[in-house]
Amino acid sequence: MADKKQNKRNNKNNYDEDYNPRFRKQRKKVCVLCSDKNFELDYKNPEQLRKFINDKGKILPRRTTGACAKHQRDITTAVKRARHIAILPYSQN
Ligand SMILES: [Zn+2]
Repeated sequence: MADKKQNKRNNKNNYDEDYNPRFRKQRKKVCVLCSDKNFELDYKNPEQLRKFINDKGKILPRRTTGACAKHQRDITTAVKRARHIAILPYSQN
């Protein structure tokens, strides 16, 4: 019985193994563009933009990218520009 209690406590300290969403610690996502000053969003760079689209070619939502409102707008514009010049696909499959 005592061992069980000990294990529970140890799991609580390990966020990755604690899968129960009710007790999971909410880690605040930080906008990649705000946190990295050297990060320059470039619509001519498909490798960079591919991080912001899913495998179907859709732009990922803010809850997934973690970007702030301002930068999510920039990302959206960049992806749409890239699609227009045929660097990124409008859709896949
Ligand atoms: Zn930002």
